[in-house]
Amino acid sequence: LFLAMAPLLIAAGVLAWQQGSRRGGYYLCAWIPGLLFVIVRVAQLELHWPLPTWLTFALPAAFALASVVLSFGLADHTLSIRHERDIAHRLAERDVLTGALNRRAILAFLRVAFRHARESGEPLSLLFLDLDHFKRINDNYGHRAGDRCLRGVIAPIASELRHGDALGRYGGEEFLVVLPGAAATDAEIVAERIRGRVQAMPLLVSGTRIDLTLSVGVTALDASVGTPEDLIERADAALYRSKANGRNLVSTHPGITSAPA
Ligand code: GH3
Ligand code: MG
Ligand code: MG
Repeated sequence: LFLAMAPLLIAAGVLAWQQGSRRGGYYLCAWIPGLLFVIVRVAQLELHWPLPTWLTFALPAAFALASVVLSFGLADHTLSIRHERDIAHRLAERDVLTGALNRRAILAFLRVAFRHARESGEPLSLLFLDLDHFKRINDNYGHRAGDRCLRGVIAPIASELRHGDALGRYGGEEFLVVLPGAAATDAEIVAERIRGRVQAMPLLVSGTRIDLTLSVGVTALDASVGTPEDLIERADAALYRSKANGRNLVSTHPGITSAPA
């Protein structure tokens, strides 16, 4: 029975390996030497050959080899599972177009930061960013150019953030920036730097320079803010003022609209 099964097991391993299964490869490397020696040992017993000394040691050596190879195989398999888990994690929390956090992830980040700020008494600020006249950019240069603009603004925005801040795409051409530990005045400075950087960003699409600007609404946590959603609403209200006052501006709620220098 064993002699009949051994070639079947090997054939199954070869088939799996040929179809690209790394586990099939490890299985073959681990078990082929052992199987071959067992076949020789069975033949030696059945045919009453004298037992050669090398065969006495070859069998345990082959099984020791199998355990080492299988350990490597398991480690390799665990690594590939971790790699796939990391990819799945990234896909679940990142926006596919821009690579920024997606809406769900940035809102989850905001909720955690909000709770932490409430408990610790540390400041927390939120920026609501919206690209100006973005529909016009799509209409004038095409949707692909629009997509390139959306991807293009991520680096200048991110370059103004600290470790621990978070940037996410809230929807369409709107982004949220969460600044844990930043009071309103610090947040205004960050927002102004982001605004200036995006305005100065050289964005060439098919040899044409696209002038892209964004408007920002800034708000910070205070006693009148009850929930993270209130904070978003306030930032949105400030953003609305930036738009109403001519765009390419930073406004704070409650507070002022700053004109670009
Ligand atoms: P405003 O300055 O008032 O914000 O004007 P706007 O044109 O930016 O705002 P509006 O809300 O009228 O238009 C937003 C545009 O953003 C319309 C939509 O086609 C475009 N948009 C949203 N998501 C995407 C996207 O993923 N790719 C591209 N290329 N365009 C997008
Ligand atoms: Mg918008
Ligand atoms: Mg817009």
